[in-house]
Amino acid sequence: MEGWSTQHFTDRVFLDTPVPGVGLLPQNSLGGGPIQLPVLNQPSAAEGPAPCADPTQFVLARRKSIQIRVRDVKVGGGAPIAVQSMCNTYTHDVEATVSQIKRLEAAGCEIVRVAVPDERAANALAEIKRRTHIPLVADIHFDYRLALMAAEAGVDCLRINPGNINGEDRVNEVVAASKDHGISIRIGVNAGSLEKNLLDRFGGATSQAIVESGLRHVAMLEKRGFYETKISLKASDVARTVLAYRLMAQKVDYPLHLGITESGSLRSGSVKSAVGLGILLSEGIGDTLRVSLASDPVDEVDVAFEILKSLQLRQKGVNVVACPSCGRVQIDVDKLTLEIEKELSHIDAPITVAVMGCEVNGPGEAREADIGVAGGHKRALMFMKGEKIGLVEYADIKKNLVREVETMAAKIAKVSAREMTGDGDV
Ligand code: SF4
Repeated sequence: MEGWSTQHFTDRVFLDTPVPGVGLLPQNSLGGGPIQLPVLNQPSAAEGPAPCADPTQFVLARRKSIQIRVRDVKVGGGAPIAVQSMCNTYTHDVEATVSQIKRLEAAGCEIVRVAVPDERAANALAEIKRRTHIPLVADIHFDYRLALMAAEAGVDCLRINPGNINGEDRVNEVVAASKDHGISIRIGVNAGSLEKNLLDRFGGATSQAIVESGLRHVAMLEKRGFYETKISLKASDVARTVLAYRLMAQKVDYPLHLGITESGSLRSGSVKSAVGLGILLSEGIGDTLRVSLASDPVDEVDVAFEILKSLQLRQKGVNVVACPSCGRVQIDVDKLTLEIEKELSHIDAPITVAVMGCEVNGPGEAREADIGVAGGHKRALMFMKGEKIGLVEYADIKKNLVREVETMAAKIAKVSAREMTGDGDV
């Protein structure tokens, strides 16, 4: 592994500046040759093998960022990477919005954002706040009065770009309201709405233009002594997004909110997000994230946790390991896996369940899981913590797995309650 570096993530596609609508060119748009990306956290030879050699430490050391709060959720400074989503209801429709936020809360969403395009939406915020529990972010563009109304209504964070609200006095008012109400601000730069002078200067919505825009907004807040800021830099393609976050990570200490904007449908958007966010997270970049999908927002939360779980950055809920099945399969792995995922979706405890089709790889994988099953001739073999616990009829596999996982989850909950209270009799 000598000479290892994260450069292996930076194939040529990330060394060049993408031109919207054209694609990638071999030279950057400024004509200065390929962009030299920094090598992040490159270990010295003295530090021993690279982190990637150890699957339990795949993610590089997390980038050091300052910590801010979105009410009681810490963002940055080594806090767990917070999962966000955004409602797709009309915010003025309080019933629909509250109902969706409650579904998001139940799915594990930790911060939720709602669009505030007009006064009707701003007027609904206080009631939405009153009836929901997770921190609420008001997404506002251009109209500083809506930001003031949102702050007054008690939201926990404003997503607003100070450079877009047209005037120093207005920025002063929004910053003062944020300070008064103790709320944070997310600067959200989107490749699709960059300032014209930056588009001209950089020859399009390049990663550098996105970063430059973010820095301008940051400077406007810092000038007013405001530092409770997090930053997102979103483009709809992985290459520009990854490069923009890498560049910004070198320039500021603020927490970064990751996302690939308008990434697509449940399937294509999940893949694009997993690739883009996975690259950044594996390099230690990212303090909170949203997976943007043209789908039910609850799917965004599920996919976000799957990404974080796959990098061992968060542990939440059941992790189902299932074989793809082949000509040796003895049980209906596909159906069983879907049913088990659904039936165990209420479990928060981090439990790995293996569903394996036959006795070839089945027992090995099932043994590694907390609870596993491997299809066999006529019956299936069940494992718990590496030990065989019995044979079950095919028709009883689901019932047995669900029962064992629920029992294990209850034991885990009991132990953590005991640890939290310090009470041995809980
Ligand atoms: Fe095929 Fe068995 Fe492997 Fe599943 S565990 S893919 S059924 S060999």
